[in-house]
Amino acid sequence: MASGELYAFLILMKLCVFLERDGVLNRVRLERQRMVAPLTMDEFEIKPEAAPLLEKLKAGGLVLIATTNQPGLSRGYQSRRELDRMHDSLRRTLPLDDILVCPHDETDRCPCRKPNPGLFVEAGFKWNLNLEHCFVISDKWHAAEAAWAAGCMSLLLESPWTGSVHHDFLLPNLAAAVDKILQLQSLNRAVAA
Ligand SMILES: [Zn+2]
Repeated sequence: MASGELYAFLILMKLCVFLERDGVLNRVRLERQRMVAPLTMDEFEIKPEAAPLLEKLKAGGLVLIATTNQPGLSRGYQSRRELDRMHDSLRRTLPLDDILVCPHDETDRCPCRKPNPGLFVEAGFKWNLNLEHCFVISDKWHAAEAAWAAGCMSLLLESPWTGSVHHDFLLPNLAAAVDKILQLQSLNRAVAA
């Protein structure tokens, strides 16, 4: 590929924000220091602040993709039908372009269960993303480690599950993470201009 063609290809590549589902986009319960994700539509509650914040990212021209580990699908305690109902509701409420799910158990040793970067890599092909300039927002260390492996920038939200892995930013909440991304985007544009 000639350098001009390569440049044209790179500027056609899109930028994305990967958003953790449980704990970032919808509420979770805490039981004995452990996060309990909703398993049915009745338990599924989308955080009210998420919609306006995601609209701000969308207005900034970013592709928005939710990612989630749902091992209950292979362990048998999460029904596919209830998951589809929850995700239909997510799509109706939030300006998401895609929702990517790892349905596997830890023992399946799949490439897509975070901290493995498989979901981000898959999205990179599907959406023609420049992963090195994409962002990952999560409240769990698994996603920060997956971001590191995929070459994305990680923004961890304060929670009991941030661990001590590499992350680029530690922020108090989704609003702060969205502001940080928009600020980094405008810096990028200023450098490129
Ligand atoms: Zn998987």
